[in-house]
Amino acid sequence: MPSEKFNYKVFWDEVVARMQTVLSEQENITWLGRISYAGSEKNKLILAVPSLFIKDYISAQYKAQITDMLHELTGEEIAVDFNIKKPSSEETEQIRKHAVARDNNPKEAPRSTTDQAIVPVQKKAKDPNINPNYQFDSFVVGDNSIFAYNVSLAIAKNPGVSYNPCLIYGGVGLGKTHLIQSIGNYIQETTPELQVVYVTAEMFTNEFIQAIPEKKTPQFRNKYRKADVLLIDDIHFLQKKDSTQEELFHVFNNLFEANKQLVFTCDRPIHELQDIADRLKNRFTRGINVDLQPPDFETRLAILHRKCKEKDCIITGEVLDYISRNVNTNVRDLESSLMKLIAYSQLLGKEITLDIAREQLKSSLSIAKDQSITVDVIIRVAAEFFNISPYDIKGKKRTKSVVLPRQFAMYIARDITEFSTTEIGYEFGGRDHTTVMHSVQRIAGLIQSDPAMSESLQTLLRRIQEYKRDK
Ligand code: ADP
Ligand code: MG
Repeated sequence: MPSEKFNYKVFWDEVVARMQTVLSEQENITWLGRISYAGSEKNKLILAVPSLFIKDYISAQYKAQITDMLHELTGEEIAVDFNIKKPSSEETEQIRKHAVARDNNPKEAPRSTTDQAIVPVQKKAKDPNINPNYQFDSFVVGDNSIFAYNVSLAIAKNPGVSYNPCLIYGGVGLGKTHLIQSIGNYIQETTPELQVVYVTAEMFTNEFIQAIPEKKTPQFRNKYRKADVLLIDDIHFLQKKDSTQEELFHVFNNLFEANKQLVFTCDRPIHELQDIADRLKNRFTRGINVDLQPPDFETRLAILHRKCKEKDCIITGEVLDYISRNVNTNVRDLESSLMKLIAYSQLLGKEITLDIAREQLKSSLSIAKDQSITVDVIIRVAAEFFNISPYDIKGKKRTKSVVLPRQFAMYIARDITEFSTTEIGYEFGGRDHTTVMHSVQRIAGLIQSDPAMSESLQTLLRRIQEYKRDK
């Protein structure tokens, strides 16, 4: 129990005040704003955070800084511990609203259009790597993407002003390239005097490696240092590429100091990247970090309706409903399922019925269910992720610290394998199938209402894939 004798709240308040001055506003809102004082014990400060994911992130990013400051303030070694306390939906909403408010009311004035009237605008060539089809208008916004969308739009309207640098992260096929290229298109159209450069991290790496033997590094550097807006897609590709990282580090510093806009995308949160220099990680996360989550059912349906309209195809509501229910991985899979049906219908001149849809999508839907992943693997990876033992997951303990991981693992087992709830229950220490069903429902609810939960789920799914690949 926290004791009255030790109360470090004043010190914590001072730490917050100090950190506020060194962190960017976005970091303050996104991370610091989510920690609150929860109590003190002898030489221990307890902080409340809204989720396990945020706890992990804050531990990795800020814990050392916090303990250093506490040491400075108190002259004692004070450990920091976290409690998890779920935020109310109003709190989540506030964070979201903040992004919208900033978008509509940027602190600094946007570029003056009157100046441009006097000096003739020198239009820059459009970047050929940007696909003009990727537009904000064609991006269907859902709860899963509203934050990333608003931030991207704010950047496009005021490059180098509101959110810099910006990192958009999320799994494959969730719209990262669509959003980062929408920023590029928007700026090229509305502010053509700005030089926009888009590359994937792979292109950046290849160009750099080629420039060395051809003695063209100065041209290479010049291209990137001339950019007013630099968009780099898929930076996870830079893992283990030390010299390219070093080069990017210098490009980053140059542009950042000149207030040029930088936007990056990554398939995972930065702290999960391996073999990327800390100083570069630190640059990537310096500004705002926004995530893209898989779309929920309603959003999937809205995306399908939108794509049908774009392709000028009519597909019955019943069929669209079937696709949205069954293709729940990402937008790319959703799109390709729809395209498959449209192609089939055009080829045979037939309207798509529900039976045709079932038959046509059968093969792709069953591939999504992965047969090479066993329940045991899921249990092991989940146990490691939550820092408990696999025996705890299978065992009888009902403490909070094992129940959530257990339910998470059951949810994943049901989601990505073909096993029935009865079989899954059996693998989880001989539990009843109704227990499995209950767990699946509970986690599904949590993922819907808590973005951090959904983030933990994505991380777990990725680790399971990686585990499989490494074996
Ligand atoms: P990522 O870069 O995250 O792997 P992409 O941006 O390439 O994903 O998206 C995959 C496909 O799905 C693209 O064709 C993209 O236009 C489409 N897409 C993704 N998200 C949306 C969305 N919210 N609305 C409309 N289309 C989307
Ligand atoms: Mg992409």
